[in-house]
Amino acid sequence: MAVYDYDLFVIGGGSGGVRAARVAAALGKRVGIAEEYRYGGTCVIRGCVPKKLYVYASQFPEHFADAAGYGWTVPQASFDWQTLVANKDREISRLEAIYRKNVQGAGGETFQSRAMLVDPHGVQLLGEDRTVTADQILIATGGRPAPHPALPGHNHCISSNEAFDLKELPKAIMIEGGGYIAVEFANIFHGLGVETTLVYRGKEILSRFDMDLRRMLHETMEKKGIKILCHAVSEWVRKRPDGRLDAVVTGGRVLTVDQVMLAIGRLPNTENMGLEGLGIEMTRTGAIHVDQYSRTSIDNIWAIGDVTNRVQLTPVAIHEAMCFVETAFKGNPTAPDHETIATAVFSQPEIGTVGLSEDEAIKRFSDVEVYRATFRPMRNTLSGRDEKMLMKLVVDGASKKVLGAHILGPDAGEMAQLLGIPLKAGLTKDDFDRTMAVHPTAAEELVTMYKPTYRVRDGERA
Ligand SMILES: Cc1cc2nc3c(=O)[nH]c(=O)nc-3n(C[C@H](O)[C@H](O)[C@H](O)COP(=O)(O)OP(=O)(O)OC[C@H]3O[C@@H](n4cnc5c(N)ncnc54)[C@H](O)[C@@H]3O)c2cc1C
Repeated sequence: MAVYDYDLFVIGGGSGGVRAARVAAALGKRVGIAEEYRYGGTCVIRGCVPKKLYVYASQFPEHFADAAGYGWTVPQASFDWQTLVANKDREISRLEAIYRKNVQGAGGETFQSRAMLVDPHGVQLLGEDRTVTADQILIATGGRPAPHPALPGHNHCISSNEAFDLKELPKAIMIEGGGYIAVEFANIFHGLGVETTLVYRGKEILSRFDMDLRRMLHETMEKKGIKILCHAVSEWVRKRPDGRLDAVVTGGRVLTVDQVMLAIGRLPNTENMGLEGLGIEMTRTGAIHVDQYSRTSIDNIWAIGDVTNRVQLTPVAIHEAMCFVETAFKGNPTAPDHETIATAVFSQPEIGTVGLSEDEAIKRFSDVEVYRATFRPMRNTLSGRDEKMLMKLVVDGASKKVLGAHILGPDAGEMAQLLGIPLKAGLTKDDFDRTMAVHPTAAEELVTMYKPTYRVRDGERA
């Protein structure tokens, strides 16, 4: 039998790669892992974590304003962008060190290097100018923001990567895109006092989410002062003599801003890694094609996380890593489960969602009950904030199984995590009805909507 340097070599030290390396090393496997940039990957360095910290930062002006109704006098507040960026940097450096240490603590060897495949068992470490061998290889190289080379002036634009570390907070920004990253950043910048315009080519922001959530979030964001232009794209971006940018969007409208951020999708990191040379099969979008166990077209090479473009979320990459270890090292073939994934959009107000949207449910089920409530959450009463909350359950009328749960409002992400459990367990509306409410909460609405607001039978609203 061939003798390799490692039982497992992982390329990419992000959410998925680090988890696989750590767990395999803890099993006693000889594990190496290479990261070309910073351990922790997208999530820790320029994704979920810094994003959520900035969301918190951007919420303070509303908290200050709301405090008055509760009797507080808040002195004139001021904000310092550089302090936020520096504090964020400190926190992600702390997490980065933990990620690296956890792999090492489990017995894995970490490399600071770009890596590429040279043969089915050989990995070249470009930073170290050497090649190592491994029995099993895991590719977990994630993705990056899609550029927009066809846009004249695209070189003046930033992506989410740069948005975290701008030298100065812009006075005005245009964000192009309608996905969750575009929407979250629009709310962050607006909350921090930046004049914000969101430009999206589709008919409504956040495609694939329940339409009620999309519409109500759109309305609420506009009420707060975020401009949203749907059915629009940027046509060119030009630097002005004063250093600002003119962005021309569909219809000839010119937006003069300090930054243009493109959030038009993400591309898998598969280039210049030796994949084509080895004949590793790719999808049409350039992602690595894998089977149900995350195995590529070469038996001992596996891929997980964003690079496979299945579901681009941190917990999914981690779950795929755990399944990979079960399959490759514990003799327990385990396919990742991508059904009924609870998720959040950290917009303001927040979205929490799990399961089928109303439209998806109607396509799959002939009798759909919709339970829907909009109300002013209690915290908005004394503050006088004119913002409503939406809660919606989508139920199969025949079996009473709850197919989808959708929330817009404060703490919706936290609620979605807990709703993920009954939906995953396949519980019914009767189970929800039998559950005692927690009072006074906003979430109690989820167990007190006894009568359907409407039903949809064979696609027709009854
Ligand atoms: C702005 C933003 C916000 C997000 N917010 C959320 C959120 O709120 N919740 C959520 O669940 N998900 C969120 N995500 C998505 C989440 O970050 C990703 O799904 C997750 O990080 C994917 O993990 P991964 O292990 O597949 O890849 P990554 O975490 O991207 O890790 C891949 C690593 O591989 C390294 N690498 C690439 N090529 C090589 C090479 N050849 N050699 C060595 N190293 C290499 C990269 O430097 C990177 O560190 C967000 C993403 C972004 C961009």
